[in-house]
Amino acid sequence: STARIVWDGHQIARAIARMAHQIVEVNAGSADLVLLGIPTRGVLLARRLADAIRSIENTEVAIGELDVTMYRDDLRRQPTRAVGRTAIPRPLDDQTVVLVDDVLFTGRTIAAALDALKEVGRPRSVQLAVLIDRGHRELPIQADHVGRQLQAPAEARVNVKLTEIDDHDAVTISVP
Ligand code: 5GP
Ligand code: MG
Repeated sequence: STARIVWDGHQIARAIARMAHQIVEVNAGSADLVLLGIPTRGVLLARRLADAIRSIENTEVAIGELDVTMYRDDLRRQPTRAVGRTAIPRPLDDQTVVLVDDVLFTGRTIAAALDALKEVGRPRSVQLAVLIDRGHRELPIQADHVGRQLQAPAEARVNVKLTEIDDHDAVTISVP
């Protein structure tokens, strides 16, 4: 299979800048925002969004991470998955939580994230930001802030590479 490049680093950077602007626009700033990344790449994207919001708003942005492993409805099928880390930067009550992930596919990860969130607080509202929405939802979950929608077949793999761990930024699609 060959990987088709659909996005380079400049395009990813512009999308993150746009999403950051949209997040502070719809939320009237960042004072009551908490960005929670879903490990692994969602955490990196949450950091990038927080950096962008910081430079737009000139304020600090609360950021943390939410591990959803134990809340997955397919846990029994993948019993050896490593459990990640949850880090909540401040009480979530009366906050707007923005969940951040790299790819939205069936929606099961975000459904699990909503279950995990119940254990750590009761935010006033929850939004979802994803770099790539690749369709094929199996649950009624949609993103509020989207980098790009891709029409990829269900059996395709969308590869999201981020400099922090993959040594360059790119989005590619491989079809088996
Ligand atoms: P879902 O639970 O919506 O089916 O899948 C979303 C989660 O699985 C995300 O955390 C994402 O990292 C991962 N994922 C699902 N499909 C893909 C894909 O095609 N490429 C990448 N990079 N991650 C995916
Ligand atoms: Mg993931």
